[in-house]
Amino acid sequence: MATGYNGYVTAERIEGADDGPLAGVTVAVKDNISTEGVRTTCGSAMLEDYVPPFDATVVERLERAGATIPGKTNMDEFGMGTTTETSAFGPVENPAAPGHVPGGSSGGSAAVVAAGDADLALGSDTGGSIRCPAAFCGVVGIKPTYGLVSRYGLVAYANSLEQIGPIAPTVEEAAELLAVIAGPDERDATTRMPPEQGGDGEDGGNGDGGDLEYASAADGDVTGLDIGIPTELVEGADERVTEVFRDAIAGLEDRGASTREVELPSVEYAVESYYVIAMSEASSNLARFDGVRYGQSGGYDGNWNETFAESRRKGFGDEVKRRVLLGTYALSAGYHDKYYAKAQDARAWIQQDFDEALSEADVLASPTMPVPPMELGESLSDPMTMYLADANTTPVNMANLPAISVPAGETDEGLPVGLQFVGPAWGERRIIRAGSALA
Ligand code: GLN
Repeated sequence: MATGYNGYVTAERIEGADDGPLAGVTVAVKDNISTEGVRTTCGSAMLEDYVPPFDATVVERLERAGATIPGKTNMDEFGMGTTTETSAFGPVENPAAPGHVPGGSSGGSAAVVAAGDADLALGSDTGGSIRCPAAFCGVVGIKPTYGLVSRYGLVAYANSLEQIGPIAPTVEEAAELLAVIAGPDERDATTRMPPEQGGDGEDGGNGDGGDLEYASAADGDVTGLDIGIPTELVEGADERVTEVFRDAIAGLEDRGASTREVELPSVEYAVESYYVIAMSEASSNLARFDGVRYGQSGGYDGNWNETFAESRRKGFGDEVKRRVLLGTYALSAGYHDKYYAKAQDARAWIQQDFDEALSEADVLASPTMPVPPMELGESLSDPMTMYLADANTTPVNMANLPAISVPAGETDEGLPVGLQFVGPAWGERRIIRAGSALA
């Protein structure tokens, strides 16, 4: 299924079981999630011909639930980007805002759902990569609590931050897909049963989360919901965005929710510390792409250093090279304490701030992205501008919390704006209920 907007890298169908909760439903899968026998490129020339010999746990669960996978979706190279313009397979155009980026890094996943070329999709979110494209394409995206969804078979970018999650036209459909992929997996030791849902914390022995259920929370009822609005996440945003955000919040108040201002002073440092941690982890995770273990060969002529360097010169794009270099620098002896250790301190502080804010309110609300979708080609040449667009999404990954982005409306020029709800750890049902009042 070739799409004019370049949503799929590989359009090869994978059929699931004959019946199950997702029978007859198509679920597109981001191209950093392993599919047995179907190439998985991570949007990189390095892995142009890589065909995994196994399925990711989430893919196994999709197949067991009866879903059909229509293809693997385009993405920023190894998940590094906010616009899906760093893909080696070309940029994706936003079907909901032609001429603009779809957001990133799961831009292909959000675009195929927005265009109706898949019913649902999976993305991955390290610092916003599900929520940003959901917001820019006018669809729903959920970044689960760290540890709810197995990362087995997800090609790692920054493993302490990322989770796989659903993208869908409505909150209820996103919740149905979340239930299929969520729950403990013995192949990912960071997964666990949500304490509030499993009762005894057991999964019934089948390793698939037992009876996790989220869709019934999508009842649109926000009566009595106490919404905290962190001033820091609204103040810096583009006026076109805050206008739509304020209207959506007023609508929630009309339906019985109440709002209060809360403070998250530490988020001022979130983008900086996120990028130090993400790049440091990336420099380690991407070391396996050397043309010997994984990736295209550098051709051996007697010097392994040159062979590895040649493989990476050919295989990696500019953004990936920049991050591997910066991450290696941040971790090096002599600089480790100055950058990486400080970023970990900031991470602990951010977690504390969220704990406090969420003790005052049921959920936190902000614009998902501080800006509307950029025009294609507008931001790629200026990495700092691109990084700063992650101001509202990265703090949530630093705090390991669940968040949802739901369509809040459009700017006067017709550009989609997303509203983000953040909940306490394992509070997926709470953010799903809040989000379902809007979509
Ligand atoms: N834009 C962020 C980054 O480039 C987030 C990416 C992601 O969540 N994978 O790191």
